[in-house]
Amino acid sequence: MILGAGLVGLAIAAEAYSRGASVLLVDETRPGEASPAGAGMLAPGAESEELPNDPVRNFAVAGRDLYPAFLSALRDETGIDVPFDRNGILELVEDGQEALRPPGSEWVDARTLRELEPGLRTFSGAVRHPRDGAVDNVVLLSAMRRRAESRRSITLVRAGARAVNVTLARPRAILDDRDVVEGGSLVIATGAWAAQLAGLPRPIPVRPVRGQLLMLEGALTRHVIYGGGGYVVPRRSPERTVVGATMEEAGFESQSTPAGLAELTAVRRRVFQDSASAHVVSHWAGLRPMTPDRLPILGPDPERPRLLYACGHGRNGILLAPITGEAIGAMAVGAPSPHDLSMLSIQRFARDT
Ligand SMILES: Cc1cc2nc3c(=O)[nH]c(=O)nc-3n(C[C@H](O)[C@H](O)[C@H](O)COP(=O)(O)OP(=O)(O)OC[C@H]3O[C@@H](n4cnc5c(N)ncnc54)[C@H](O)[C@@H]3O)c2cc1C
Repeated sequence: MILGAGLVGLAIAAEAYSRGASVLLVDETRPGEASPAGAGMLAPGAESEELPNDPVRNFAVAGRDLYPAFLSALRDETGIDVPFDRNGILELVEDGQEALRPPGSEWVDARTLRELEPGLRTFSGAVRHPRDGAVDNVVLLSAMRRRAESRRSITLVRAGARAVNVTLARPRAILDDRDVVEGGSLVIATGAWAAQLAGLPRPIPVRPVRGQLLMLEGALTRHVIYGGGGYVVPRRSPERTVVGATMEEAGFESQSTPAGLAELTAVRRRVFQDSASAHVVSHWAGLRPMTPDRLPILGPDPERPRLLYACGHGRNGILLAPITGEAIGAMAVGAPSPHDLSMLSIQRFARDT
């Protein structure tokens, strides 16, 4: 049984299903869900400051490198070709700024940068993360939902879960209408809301961090660009440019705001020579599920091994959804995880909670 059907819960469901399990997915639509709100970058290189050590970095790189096979299987099963960009990400460097160069990245000088992206303001160069890129997370989410809905052994229950009971041989979830559902294991994949469930054996240190994005008409770059205090992600069909993102402590408030729009407009001005003519198509916000060290919580509860955590993916949950699916989907059916999750265990917070 999986609580939450964002990209993380759906990836776990797909893996458990592919291993022959019957899956119960419990999900309620909530304003601020992160998976449809994100920008879709697959950026272990550009996000390397968020990834503090080699095991975590290797896990994120492995997550990115699962994407081609993951999307190809999804296409075979649904007929949906999810837009996927492996052009590399360019991280802009201003005059006098130190450039962080994680392994595998390369330096692009000012002239080459101008040739690659003529619409940008002048920068002293860029660090190119050649294997990073982006996926259209909105199309991805709808394809994954469609696949889950079409599988007879995946049952999607449209309801909120208010509490869990993991002291029994078969863990249970108590739904808002007081119905009770149970399964051989119970996975918490409820994004920014993970801490709210009653009956957990320990607190889950996940809180919402709001992010606002705006979308401009036209694809203004060929590459995903990091810089100007934010990032820019081109989308094809229809051609659009996503500009992001704020990082705000605003509780569960998931509306976009005039201050957020102003911050994103400033990013756009700092990146482009002339973006003023590009019309704003939309502006929205979502809630990142954030932990104190900004890394996800993955794996079993140390005392209740039928309870599995798959939450707190923070800024990189789209990147990490397929690899989380592989790892937690295996464990949900009693198999070992194919990936080492020890550095992401909830036990690392034992001192704080
Ligand atoms: C503005 C922004 C930009 C981002 N950009 C990127 C990016 O470029 N790259 C990247 O990798 N990541 C990015 N992220 C992060 C990424 O979107 C998230 O980490 C990821 O989507 C988390 O997925 P999830 O399935 O855990 O959560 P969600 O997508 O929030 O899904 C959780 C689901 O559980 C449901 N739910 C919650 N509580 C309950 C309950 N009690 N009962 C039933 N259902 C419940 C919710 O309604 C929701 O459907 C971004 C996020 C934001 C907000």
